[in-house]
Amino acid sequence: MSDTQGLVDSLLENIRDAAVVATPDGRVVRISKAFEVVTGHVGSGQSLSAVVLGEHFMREAMAPDAGGQWQGAARCGDGRDRNFEVTVSAIDGADGQPRHYLGLVRPVTATPAADGAPVVGDGGRFGYDTLTGLPNRDLFIDRVGQIVLRANRTGGSVALMMMGLDRFTLVNDALGHAAGDRLLVEVARRLRTCVRETDTAVRLDGDRFALVLAIADVDDSVTVAEKVLSSVKEPFNLDGQEVVVTFSIGISVLPVDADSGANLVKHAEHALHYAKTSGRNQYQFFSKDMNRKARSRLELETRLRRALVNEEFVVFYQPKVSADRDAIVGAEALIRWMDPERGMISPADFIPVAEESGQIEPIGSWVLWKSCQQNKLWQDAGLAPIKVSVNVSARQFHSRTLLDKVVEVLGQTGLDPKWLELEITESMLMNDVDGAVRKMKALRDLGIGLSIDDFGTGYSSLSYLGRFPITTLKIDRAFIADVDTNAKTAEIARAIIGLSRGLNLEVVAEGAEVAAHINFLRDNGCDTVQGFYYSRPVAADEFEKMMRQSVMVRT
Ligand code: C2E
Ligand code: MG
Ligand code: MG
Repeated sequence: MSDTQGLVDSLLENIRDAAVVATPDGRVVRISKAFEVVTGHVGSGQSLSAVVLGEHFMREAMAPDAGGQWQGAARCGDGRDRNFEVTVSAIDGADGQPRHYLGLVRPVTATPAADGAPVVGDGGRFGYDTLTGLPNRDLFIDRVGQIVLRANRTGGSVALMMMGLDRFTLVNDALGHAAGDRLLVEVARRLRTCVRETDTAVRLDGDRFALVLAIADVDDSVTVAEKVLSSVKEPFNLDGQEVVVTFSIGISVLPVDADSGANLVKHAEHALHYAKTSGRNQYQFFSKDMNRKARSRLELETRLRRALVNEEFVVFYQPKVSADRDAIVGAEALIRWMDPERGMISPADFIPVAEESGQIEPIGSWVLWKSCQQNKLWQDAGLAPIKVSVNVSARQFHSRTLLDKVVEVLGQTGLDPKWLELEITESMLMNDVDGAVRKMKALRDLGIGLSIDDFGTGYSSLSYLGRFPITTLKIDRAFIADVDTNAKTAEIARAIIGLSRGLNLEVVAEGAEVAAHINFLRDNGCDTVQGFYYSRPVAADEFEKMMRQSVMVRT
């Protein structure tokens, strides 16, 4: 019996359905975790209200003429009536007589239109807000329940954002309810543009909205919250009257702040209240730790913005060396941030933030311009010409202005295109292979080189490699690090070198740190190496000194 009990407990703990177990006389003995979420009863364990609701379902479905099925409205945790469907099955005891009944409870919700988009003004379909067409609170509770169960099963994370328009009543009072309604419709439209198709934007009631997001990282919710704040910043035009509104946003994250949908909702409400009372037009996390993280990320973004204006960026150059001759044959331009307070900050720490906050394009353009200008200066000073390669981030590569930018920079600096190479990574190319090939061809037509950086760490779809009009493959550091001690890694490195030869590409090994790496690479036909063995990335004047020596001095 205790085994069975354990099984039932574990079942109810893990089952993703809203389930209730009752005795033959309709008395509730257990409910599943999901039951609370689905019925909107905030509270943990078997809260009285949840049990009462469960009893109601079970008695109705077990009534002699119900046939184990019941459909109807019930009062939920938020005090509103909602439609549910309940199916009951008997669990027989050893004597073959029903000992318990299991009821599965499902909220009845309308499905969205065939194209997946909610229908605006749908005349009150169950589950959708009639004014904005967004899912309403009923569907919200359902979606939270589903996403939480999925996340708990797969170990994923969920962010819930509760949002209130600040001072919405002022708009209603000053311009009338019709204008207020139009504002809400427009706000809903903008909200939809802030989230992915798989996320849910909801209108809860009045001026309150919510977003339910599956996230990989807390930073994802920061990005969305900032998008929401800036999307409403643009004035709304209501009958020729410009209106500016702001949002207050409360965020809670599962599993950090809550382990159930009910708690997730409750904690996001608390965070919203905090956001409203501490100044509005902002987002607040439920947990202090996340507030701290979000603040430091926001601070980094602000400092980044200042850094470009204050000229705090510097370009370092790392030599690419012919291992045969110990001579510099090229360089990679690598950005550094000299922060006046924190010292030198690595690109690995700020490039992803610049990329997400939309600052990578001006920063990337600056690096391109600076390194082309520097290369031309070296050539004008009589040094042997070398190719300098510049890293291009995903957003830059996909930007429509990249080609124009390269043309502009080459024109401004007077650098011959053959001395410029752009480094891109495989992952940037795989979403839209045809589009990427077109873009790469246009860049190659300018006369510049194109290399695949970190080769071997991305999709590595060899079938596409032949289609990409590239000039160079850069073997990722990961394959070089133990090339002298690990036979498998050595085989992979050999294969990449052979592949490059077969495709008539230049091959550069990144991260060569010791003589054994250099020997291996040279013996296996990779002559060009970049790594700490020869030099770390250095400032332009130091690089110039190295170029003036005909032979590299090894570190
Ligand atoms: P990446 O393009 O793969 O650059 C090579 C990185 O490997 C550089 O790190 C370089 O310092 C490091 N490295 C080179 N040789 C060795 C070695 O022997 N041992 C070890 N342990 N490391 C070596 P860095 O400069 O910190 O740059 C990191 C990444 O940041 C770059 O990787 C690139 O993805 C990105 N990045 C740097 N500058 C820019 C830029 O101007 N624009 C963009 N979009 N990304 C940049
Ligand atoms: Mg690179
Ligand atoms: Mg690399």
